[in-house]
Amino acid sequence: MPVNIPHFVAGVRVPGRSGRIAPVFNPATGEQTGTVPLASKAEVDAAVQAAARAFPAWAATPPLRRARILNRFLRLLEERTDALAAVITAEHGKVLSDAKGEVQRGLEVVEFATGAPQLLKGEVTENVGTDIDSHSLRQPLGVVAGITPFNFPAMVPMWMFPVALACGNCFVLKPSERDPSASLLIADWLKEAGLPDGVFSVVHGDKDAVDALLLHPGVAAVSFVGSTPIARYIYETAAQTGKRAQALGGAKNHMIVMPDADLDQAVDALMGAAYGSAGERCMAISVAVPVGERTADALVARLAPRVRALKIGPGTDPEAEMGPLVTKQHLDKVRGYVDLGVKEGAQLVVDGRGLKLQGHENGFFIGGSLFDRVTTDMRIYKEEIFGPVLAVARAPDFDTAARMIDEHEYGNGTAIFTRDGDAAREFAHRIQVGMVGINVPIPVPMAFHSFGGWKASLFGDHHMHGPEGVRFYTRLKTITTRWPTGIRSGAEFVMPTMK
Ligand code: NAD
Repeated sequence: MPVNIPHFVAGVRVPGRSGRIAPVFNPATGEQTGTVPLASKAEVDAAVQAAARAFPAWAATPPLRRARILNRFLRLLEERTDALAAVITAEHGKVLSDAKGEVQRGLEVVEFATGAPQLLKGEVTENVGTDIDSHSLRQPLGVVAGITPFNFPAMVPMWMFPVALACGNCFVLKPSERDPSASLLIADWLKEAGLPDGVFSVVHGDKDAVDALLLHPGVAAVSFVGSTPIARYIYETAAQTGKRAQALGGAKNHMIVMPDADLDQAVDALMGAAYGSAGERCMAISVAVPVGERTADALVARLAPRVRALKIGPGTDPEAEMGPLVTKQHLDKVRGYVDLGVKEGAQLVVDGRGLKLQGHENGFFIGGSLFDRVTTDMRIYKEEIFGPVLAVARAPDFDTAARMIDEHEYGNGTAIFTRDGDAAREFAHRIQVGMVGINVPIPVPMAFHSFGGWKASLFGDHHMHGPEGVRFYTRLKTITTRWPTGIRSGAEFVMPTMK
């Protein structure tokens, strides 16, 4: 019997009342396990109103007290990582060890946010003019919203709300309707940690709920992570309604393999980065660019048997390296891209389409696929597939490889594998991508740095978490003060200057 998943508003779980619902599946079995309510405009409004009521007291709470609540939440997360990971695996499908890794990376942002008193310290200049001092503060924005994708149902919300809350904002989360349950555990545990009611709410939904948040006059800022067309729409709509926005989009991450690279290391890196989490990561490597025919031949020869030997199974199987895709629709889409690659003339070295898993015939499984001789005019090169499909696009030299990356629409992450310091430095310096790895295939910045891509992978000025997160969730105020009073210099009609 599918469970009815509730919203979480004003500190309590509340059932959906819009009459609109969507199914939630266990991707490993194909069974429907739940129904998620799709919020109406009125339900979104109730969450925003609750947040607006909670805001004055939360903003006035000293940062150290806010940090202590986040600290208690952090301890709960540490103690209950397995429970949260199990919920992620049940609805997303990723293997449990990967789900625990996701929780860990989210938890690290909470650790960062517990530094709120330090993070929110302002700047002071004594004597900007004679007897005049100046100081600047960062103050919270008010009610802020987060709209998140299916592929990291715990980590991506945690890129956002710990920093937002630490800075004194109230947060309304609209998680992905495909794996909504992780967000409710998070809401329960924040409450248990002492977060006042209304400071953090969860409203489930689809475009209607997103539009209600985007158009709501009570929402000051929107953080979004998802696909590029929606990211662009979020950014443009938020701009029209005068909201601050950061909207992270899709990706097509390339990894250059130079002729001098340690090939075994590069192959290990590619296996994890292309097929881990079934390729459903915005930092997955989906294009390998070996430089030179000899490097390419050797790379493909070593990759192919490894892709064929991938251990695929339900996320709960401790032996499994790769789980199913998130939904039947997504499975059809990824399979369609493999069909397309063949039509476009790429060489399909490993074909994952025929995979059958005994006992899991209705699960959304597909094997790993490997294409060689993919060219830049093909759709399988240009478009994000978001599945376990790696394209090898051969380049004759470093310049061609780097140009391919620079000319690609997306600019989220990229990597180079080489032993040549000159090539590595040149790559890091010139490449038009937001996150760069040197012999590191998935260069996801740690919590105290900031995460974000370039080009069509990010719309807005701020990356997420770290110092950029603090800037996004606060506004700067600069105060100029004259002491002692009583000094009169007469009315001045020219711009005040320091001579
Ligand atoms: P998605 O764009 O379909 O959905 C993201 C969110 O937007 C969800 O909450 C969804 O309910 C909402 N949404 C969907 N359609 C909408 C519409 N028409 N109007 C308004 N809101 C809408 O993305 P997804 O399939 O959940 O996630 C996968 C995508 O996310 C991939 O493109 C991946 O690259 C991207 N992603 C990017 C990053 C990054 O950091 N750049 C991180 C994770 C995922």
